[in-house]
Amino acid sequence: MRFRTEGEFHMMIVMSPQATAAEVADVVTAVEAQGFTAHRSDGKESTVIGAVGIVSGEYDPRNFEVLPGVARVVRLSAAYKLASRHFKPEDTVVQIGKVAIGGPGVVLMAGPCTIESREQVEAIAPLVKAAGATILRGGAFKPRTSPYSFQGMGEEGLRYIREAADKHGLLVVSEVMDRTQIPMMLGYVDILQVGARNMQNFDLLKDLGKVKRPVLLKRGMSATLEELLLSAEYILAGGNRDVILCERGIRTFERAMRNTFDIAAIPVLKTMSHLPVVADPSHALGIRDKVAPAARAAVAAGADGLIIEVHNQPEKALCDGAQSLLPEQIMRLSKDLDAIARVIGRTLAA
Ligand code: PEP
Ligand code: MN
Repeated sequence: MRFRTEGEFHMMIVMSPQATAAEVADVVTAVEAQGFTAHRSDGKESTVIGAVGIVSGEYDPRNFEVLPGVARVVRLSAAYKLASRHFKPEDTVVQIGKVAIGGPGVVLMAGPCTIESREQVEAIAPLVKAAGATILRGGAFKPRTSPYSFQGMGEEGLRYIREAADKHGLLVVSEVMDRTQIPMMLGYVDILQVGARNMQNFDLLKDLGKVKRPVLLKRGMSATLEELLLSAEYILAGGNRDVILCERGIRTFERAMRNTFDIAAIPVLKTMSHLPVVADPSHALGIRDKVAPAARAAVAAGADGLIIEVHNQPEKALCDGAQSLLPEQIMRLSKDLDAIARVIGRTLAA
């Protein structure tokens, strides 16, 4: 399967000062052969060729950069289209029942890293509900770095989280690790989460484009924002317009935290794209006491929501206990988040 993109693309080709007239003419011909209209501008030192065109499919600016006499090619249009603010200036609001993600309310998603038992999710659901969460998180399929770590409860776990969420009027977000799990998961979850390790699992993204269910797309550990938006583009191009982006920390040289929380990604993504942006300070920081300050900063930076790990007995958690907030910590944090949201004209949506 290959998606087609029809749209106007722009690029600027800067010729080197040594380029000959024949080289300039050849570049113009090459640009036109690709479906662009060339606009030539002769400067005192060098020539610049502006290219504007309705191009079907992808074009690779490097194809022009390697032509004789070309100094530099600047791509002016984003590589992604449907995900871009240019294409859709107004904010996308993902509406699920009464919960709106990307609207004025800041949405709280909270729950354990992984579903461990019926009792565990049943104990945690009312705690996060009391803290103002509207969405219960919990993984049934866990992408663990080590094959010896707990891998998740699978469908049985999804049954428990659905039950617990329904009992407390919450929605469910849970990770889909493989495309074959999608049909089964549609029976249990309100939001399909794509984990950082799967951000570029393109077959999974393509299949998620075909379903009518919102997708929470996490940024890969070494993904640029453009790559994140191109992954979102796969889902959008398939026809599913309900994509929520998630900044969850990236891998850098820093070792003092689990990851490096790229807080700047939040406002920058909001400019690049119309899609809602959620922050995951739990996986970004990896340290319980540092989750709250990062969460507060994310709201101040304009996040449309937060996804936070909470456990009633973190010392016994099968996964990510060290970064899971205690019940009293999420209670306190949600009050602070609401206060911060109000400073920027929002509220925590309860
Ligand atoms: C998670 O949310 O449980 C998770 C595995 O996160 P990430 O994919 O961001 O590591
Ligand atoms: Mn986790």
